[in-house]
Amino acid sequence: MSRMKRRNFITSAASGLVGLGLAGSLKAGEARPAPRTDEDKPKIKKYNTLGKTGLKVPDVSFGAISLFEPNVLRYAYDLGVTYFDTAESYLRMKGETYVGQGLKEVRDKVLITTKHGQNFRQKIEKAAFIQRVEASLKRLQTDHIDVAMIHNVDDLTQATNNQELMSAYDQLKKDGKIRFTGFSTHNAKQTLKQALDSDFPQVVLVMYNHMEGKEIEPLVKAVRQKGIGTVAMKIFAGGMQGSLKSLVNQKTSYSQAAIRWVLGNPDFDTCIPTMSSYSHVEEYVAASAQPLDRAGLQTLAAYRDEVNSLYCRVSCRECLSACPNNVAVNDVLRFGMYYEHYGQEMNAVAAYAELEPERKPLGCSNCAGACERACPYGLKVRERLLHTHDILSV
Ligand code: SF4
Ligand code: SF4
Repeated sequence: MSRMKRRNFITSAASGLVGLGLAGSLKAGEARPAPRTDEDKPKIKKYNTLGKTGLKVPDVSFGAISLFEPNVLRYAYDLGVTYFDTAESYLRMKGETYVGQGLKEVRDKVLITTKHGQNFRQKIEKAAFIQRVEASLKRLQTDHIDVAMIHNVDDLTQATNNQELMSAYDQLKKDGKIRFTGFSTHNAKQTLKQALDSDFPQVVLVMYNHMEGKEIEPLVKAVRQKGIGTVAMKIFAGGMQGSLKSLVNQKTSYSQAAIRWVLGNPDFDTCIPTMSSYSHVEEYVAASAQPLDRAGLQTLAAYRDEVNSLYCRVSCRECLSACPNNVAVNDVLRFGMYYEHYGQEMNAVAAYAELEPERKPLGCSNCAGACERACPYGLKVRERLLHTHDILSV
């Protein structure tokens, strides 16, 4: 078999695995692929500059969210991935530990982002926050974080008006423990507008995929023109490819098509698909600098047809004002997505446990379901919420 044909065979086989939901399950006990010639190995082919930070980042970066094998990070580095995104909360801090273990030998050649969540209803103290970041540094086995983000910001002014928090970030920068600051958000329509008027964000991490995010494109362009680095997350639009039979025989795998779709927007500097296994790394890296072709478009169309009324566009929020009980519909369904489709059971249960009880769907079984009538995509919202509450309540 020629090299080219063998490469195509590997890609189709990976495509089938993803289609059957097997690629993710290979993470436990999966062996590092045998050494291959450079010609046969997928490689990152394009690097961009992350806004005015000047950092060079690969177009396909590493989302270190549900990771159980630190060597997978090192394998990604060997294929050219140099930007790694994690968070204090992932795997209850073990995410940072794995990143530290996997990258310690190449720390000076890679960029690490981590995130710290804030409950703005509680008092934030500068010293305590600095201690949290220092604990992250220890877990990450490094003396600095390249990009430190506030995790899951809904309203940026809550963060930037908090003197203790801003003073902590200033201090950490002065001490060389943080190089750049930013935030992640599921409410980009508001927070990106706010980012235009703030000096705090040097990098932003936002949801963007082929089913969600068209409406934020002008804002992404504007923040990038301002010099803010832009990173796309949740690029697999719900990550349901593992259960869709219509994707098995597609010429281009869903994951590659979804990545290529995001890379088609030059206003994003990089994206962070979650890489939990060697096969994820190989498949996602192979999408670097690849334009979306007709076969990829067909794959995305097949995916959209199957999940259109199943996928909650988290940033849409149309149903929120319709609910008389102020249920956090999009957040609850997002946690359910982490549990059922992202292989992030531990993160999902922990995130749901932290949600205020009054925002949980506790009254949905006795409600007529105004949320469903408000949903433009026809989701069975009430049923989904009750199911999600069942699986996430422990
Ligand atoms: S079923 Fe009723 S209480 Fe539950 S989210 Fe929908 S509108 Fe709100
Ligand atoms: S209206 Fe539908 S898609 Fe939008 S947030 Fe609510 S459930 Fe999700």
